Amino acid sequence: MTALRGVGEALAGRLRKLGIATVQDLLFLLPLRYEDRTRILPIGSLQPGARAVVEGEIQLTEVTYRGRRQLLCRIADRTGWLTLRFFHFSTAQQHALARGTRIRCFGEIRRGPTGLEIVHPEYRRVAADAPGTVEDALTPVYPLTEGLQQGRLRQLTAMALRELPQVREWLPAAVLDRLNLPTLHAALEYVHRPPPDASLELLAAGRHPAQRRLAFEELLAHQLSLRQLRAEVRRDPGWPLQPLRPLAQQMLAALPFELTGAQRRVWQEIAHDLAQDHPMMRLVQGDVGSGKTVVAALAALRAVEAGFQAAVMAPTELLAEQHARNFAEWLTPLDVELVLLSGKRTGAARSRALAALASGAAQVAVGTHALFQGGVEFRRLGLAIIDEQHRFGVHQRLLLREKGLASGRYPHQLIMTATPIPRTLAMTAYADLDVSVIDELPPGRTPIQTVALPEQRRDEVVLRIRDACRQGRQAYWVCPLIEESDQLNAQAAEETAQALAQALAELRVGLVHGRMPPREKEAVMARFKAGAIDLLVATTVIEVGVDVPNASLMVIENAERMGLAQLHQLRGRVGRGSAQSTCVLLYRSPLGQIARERLAVMRATNDGFEISRRDLELRGPGELLGTRQTGLMQMRVADLVRDADLLPQVHEAAELMLAENAANIAPLLRRWIGQDERFAKV
Ligand code: ADP
Ligand code: MG
Repeated sequence: MTALRGVGEALAGRLRKLGIATVQDLLFLLPLRYEDRTRILPIGSLQPGARAVVEGEIQLTEVTYRGRRQLLCRIADRTGWLTLRFFHFSTAQQHALARGTRIRCFGEIRRGPTGLEIVHPEYRRVAADAPGTVEDALTPVYPLTEGLQQGRLRQLTAMALRELPQVREWLPAAVLDRLNLPTLHAALEYVHRPPPDASLELLAAGRHPAQRRLAFEELLAHQLSLRQLRAEVRRDPGWPLQPLRPLAQQMLAALPFELTGAQRRVWQEIAHDLAQDHPMMRLVQGDVGSGKTVVAALAALRAVEAGFQAAVMAPTELLAEQHARNFAEWLTPLDVELVLLSGKRTGAARSRALAALASGAAQVAVGTHALFQGGVEFRRLGLAIIDEQHRFGVHQRLLLREKGLASGRYPHQLIMTATPIPRTLAMTAYADLDVSVIDELPPGRTPIQTVALPEQRRDEVVLRIRDACRQGRQAYWVCPLIEESDQLNAQAAEETAQALAQALAELRVGLVHGRMPPREKEAVMARFKAGAIDLLVATTVIEVGVDVPNASLMVIENAERMGLAQLHQLRGRVGRGSAQSTCVLLYRSPLGQIARERLAVMRATNDGFEISRRDLELRGPGELLGTRQTGLMQMRVADLVRDADLLPQVHEAAELMLAENAANIAPLLRRWIGQDERFAKV
């Protein structure tokens, strides 16, 4: 593919920084969105929030000092007037915007102090008899424009589009025949320059066939890249972990319960991987309460008994602390030394822990992501366990691998998740991993009963809490998430805790929220676990992992605002013992359609896989809640959730290419993820 022609050295340099070196790279720099500049709108028809082209005659231009120096320019057409507001302007600009001049401008229409306005519009002078059309295609807006104007990018892509015939088709004909989508050339032409009659709505939702054609190719490229990565990683040297002492055995013997069949099977799969001289990359999926922690502890002990260290990374401080407690209970009797490293544990305690890890005196480290940040050194890390990291994607897995590289060998990785995703999604997002599923709950669990009640019946719920606690059980009350503000959430939780403590004077009420110092949080959790607190009021910090089997009542306030995955995680905090557990979803009316369906799903099933399937159905296309938000995979056009229906064909195509078109794989990857360092093996 040709290098960029007619591009100066300075511009070429800037483009290179964006990873753009060839005409093809430009063509695959896809627009983020589109603007309709194909029509000039009458000023009188403008709505705030719209981005529009308008044209008018300047009636007045003046510099004012309202708060700060600014240039105001009023333009009018036959239907109305509009203010243009500039905070940065030159004297020349001010003079050019003289009364009587005709200008055409583009920008976002906003409601200003005196009427509609555009702040810093794009504009140019036009002759009074200039043609009424502006652009003959929708205007693409490109991403990543540091040091590069949109206008320049549009020129560049226009130039690149003229060389479109050179862009090669790498998909096998057998795949294309079945795909029933536009050709690559037609798709690229369309997304860079959609015709004026193109549906902005369809494009914005990413559902246009041209976009789907590209999404298919992108998904395929990612799939192939992960499959290749998987093959490469399996050739890398690792540490074969052979038990020299029977620690895992001893832990098993000391457990107060038997492993479930599923736990035993998964532990065997892990133990088998760990014995190989290539690094394990295994994901364990298991619904909430399926008992993943025990399996993780066994794996950690396998590393220890083979003479290595293990690191356990939890998503929150709270969970790291709980893991440290649980692990200590199992490991300390075996004389295995464990340290807790959390981001907020500083000073002498931290220094001691670091020294113990560096010398090898401590064999297991538990902590948050701080575990793998600078300053933490292991003497001989054999296994990294990652628990419940929803945002732990390929990039993080690779980084972690590199961090653990020692003496030319890579540590094993075990990733645990309670966020089940349907099989086709898992096969895509985790194509570089082996997957184990703990598909069985420990015996003796009574299914959780879930009820949804309107906010007006709060008093009844409070009475239920009293009853449950009188019977020696414990309860959670989860406060609503107000917005992305720790402080407001903490405040709301405090108020709720006070009100509940008043209403339930005979109960011991505790409180945890994200803004409490870790030591305090830890103390409250320990007291709750020990039964010294009856009712724990909490923010969603307890969403993942918290394990107190005696708690059997969960109240979730404003449940209508939460997603299914989150509700399922929260509900999973109860039903961990043998007592009948109840989850009360308090909601505020009126319920929207989706919220109503979500609550119905929660009442109907306790099965995490079923819930995630329904979750995907309920998220309509275009709703950006999917993997994009969970950070599983970042892509340019494709969206794992929105385009999930393409995945079976993507997987088939990947098989076919690996078997019959292997030579096309490298150029395809180069096209889609070539300069993307996420996948570059360092
Ligand atoms: P999760 O998979 O959600 O992380 P945990 O590991 O926290 O689940 O386990 C949930 C609870 O079940 C814990 O109290 C744990 O001790 C208990 N548990 C785990 N495995 C078994 C088992 N085989 N039999 C009985 N209880 C078990
Ligand atoms: Mg867990």
